[in-house]
Amino acid sequence: MNSSSLIDAIGNTPLLRLTGVTRDLPRHVEMYVKAEWFNPGGSVKDRPVRQIILDAERDRRLGPDRTILDSSSGNAGIAYAMIGAARGYRVHLVVPGNVSEERKHILRAYGAEVEYSDPLEGSDGAILVARRLAEHGGDRYFYADQYNNLSNPRAHYETTAPEIFAQTEGRVTHVVAGLGTSGTIVGAGRRLRELVPSVQIMAVEPAGALHGIEGLKHMASAIVPGIYDPSVHQRKIPVRTETAYAVARRLAREEGLLVGQSSGAAVAGALEVAAELNEGVIVVVCPDGGDRYLSTALWR
Ligand code: PMP
Repeated sequence: MNSSSLIDAIGNTPLLRLTGVTRDLPRHVEMYVKAEWFNPGGSVKDRPVRQIILDAERDRRLGPDRTILDSSSGNAGIAYAMIGAARGYRVHLVVPGNVSEERKHILRAYGAEVEYSDPLEGSDGAILVARRLAEHGGDRYFYADQYNNLSNPRAHYETTAPEIFAQTEGRVTHVVAGLGTSGTIVGAGRRLRELVPSVQIMAVEPAGALHGIEGLKHMASAIVPGIYDPSVHQRKIPVRTETAYAVARRLAREEGLLVGQSSGAAVAGALEVAAELNEGVIVVVCPDGGDRYLSTALWR
């Protein structure tokens, strides 16, 4: 027998070289995507959610009598629902009502209780509903609070960053990732700076408050996560929704990579960075796959 548990299958995702959308870049600029949709729950959020649950079990904040509670724009919710099912926990999620239909179906399939918040209030509306439930729920809930839980960046500090370092054999010069909870940028960025002091950490965010890039936050107009540390990134790159969608479509057609809109945004930001370089090894974190958005405007 050679078997392992579901949570051991999280991480160690492939690093894939881009060869199509990068055609016009200088020859010595290499661009790679960290293909996070290879995680068992289909997104990067499997990493922080595993860490949040294991850390909480270890300090007895989470036990069999508690329901895992959090807000999520979708992918963390799927990770809670999947890992919760595997470890025998009830899961209660607050999700903005306008997340993709595919996400709603997946959450239901894993047996999570899902509560929808006002679509017009986005992920911040979901945060406020979850907070209220946590305040009034007594001991019923373990409020995972991914926006303020240090286990979130720790997951990226301990797994995403060392993987990028090893997969590039220490050659990485630039890391580009979107800002949502900021766990990826803060955790992976911090560790990669320790491993490669000259590395440039680039954070991609939506160009405006109203946007269609699921999973990303426009920090200036949103509830700023407690875990966010802006000193970790050297630069913030604003990306427009149309650009993110256009690059996601190019990744499907020119690279064979079916990714979501935040991956489109991250690669769009990376292409901007790459155009200014003569040489470099750029790693772009691509959080999820495009099949979760087939019913949305991304593929219409
Ligand atoms: N893209 C997608 C699709 C996501 O679900 C998330 C997580 N919210 C992100 C990007 C941003 O990642 P992080 O929360 O680590 O900043």
